[in-house]
Amino acid sequence: MSGLDPYGADDRALSEALGGQPAYRLRQIRAWLARGVDDPAQMTDLPKALRSRAAEVLAPSPQLLSHRTADDGLTHKVLLEMPGSGSGSASTESIEAVLMLYPRDEDRPHGRATVCVSTQAGCAMGCPFCATGQAGLRRQLSVGEVVRQVTVMQRMLASATDLPAGAPAHVTNVVFMGMGEPLANVDATLGAVRWLADPEGGLGLSARSITVSTIGLVPAMSRLAGLGLQVRLALSLHAPNDALRDDLVPINRTHPISDVLAAADAYRVATGRRVTFEYVLIDGVNDELAHARQLAGLLKPRGAAHVNLIPMNPTPGVSWTAPPVAHQRDFLDILTRAGLPATIRANRGGNIDAACGQLHASYQMASGRTLPMAQGAAERLQPSVAGLVPPSASGDSL
Ligand code: SAH
Ligand code: SF4
Repeated sequence: MSGLDPYGADDRALSEALGGQPAYRLRQIRAWLARGVDDPAQMTDLPKALRSRAAEVLAPSPQLLSHRTADDGLTHKVLLEMPGSGSGSASTESIEAVLMLYPRDEDRPHGRATVCVSTQAGCAMGCPFCATGQAGLRRQLSVGEVVRQVTVMQRMLASATDLPAGAPAHVTNVVFMGMGEPLANVDATLGAVRWLADPEGGLGLSARSITVSTIGLVPAMSRLAGLGLQVRLALSLHAPNDALRDDLVPINRTHPISDVLAAADAYRVATGRRVTFEYVLIDGVNDELAHARQLAGLLKPRGAAHVNLIPMNPTPGVSWTAPPVAHQRDFLDILTRAGLPATIRANRGGNIDAACGQLHASYQMASGRTLPMAQGAAERLQPSVAGLVPPSASGDSL
């Protein structure tokens, strides 16, 4: 990214970049940023010279490349171009963010507007069921590049004339579940969380309405807990034993299930927040009823936990699919009968490739690059997965 990131910079850095500015000027700039106005030309209470200087030294706004809607206007996916540095150290990248509207109803008297943000262009974690992982990591996003995904949606909501009835006209929730692994870009993730929760110079969201999803990067989980905010943590588990998880989540070889669960326990103790465990259901791979029993055995004794089952969304080049709905329910029943709170995640935006794990695919298509074949990975995995299914094959004593 070229220029100083005004969302990530502290007052001193911001003032210096602008040639030395008094505190009230910085407050004016921060007030604009909090309202989603990041183009200095529109900061009308600043002197003209300062506006020009800011336009020269601050990182420019992302460009909106496309905006697609689905689910009768309840789901919106934007493709944003994040400018690079020009010097080659940071490439210009396109990333996707999704807005999901949940109009008010009996359970949600105020409705919700949830933005799903990306923290990286691509991802280095290589989970074979995920479109984002297929291209590898292209580059990290900055605090501002994460935050601007939210402010773009905030402005879109504020100016919308045809919002679905009962939908809020401002962002109420942010989930770090888009492209990339948030805790592999932990500084930007923590900076963005702080800004989103900051009632003074930021968006002022309640920390409880912010969710960070991670594949289980143990050391960074404690840094997130150390923020001292009640941010929700979602942990992508996807398998109830190490043998299977090693294949579905390659980083499990570095951070095995026992370490990840211990870090989740520590997070719950530090923040008082129940941890959600995400489990992508893949037909014939990790959806045996024996897996459900093993999962319940693993999580039930740990107290406050919630399981979110995500039926596998189609990913280009991967032949894996979600299990039939009746089988998903059988899997769910085993968890709930074991006393483990569990739900099946409602699919949103599948027809515009905006659902979980689908981001990045269309970006690659749009920019004319060919998608690396994930089929090979899935085929390589299939035989070993089939061989690992019996719970007795796992190293866990359940
Ligand atoms: N890297 C983080 C956050 C981004 S992915 C993580 O993995 O947790 C957000 C969620 O979507 C994760 O739970 C991820 O496992 C899930 N996901 C990835 N690919 C998917 C797919 N094809 N179908 C359904 N969910 C998928
Ligand atoms: Fe990365 Fe998450 Fe996709 Fe795995 S599931 S490749 S960690 S974005």
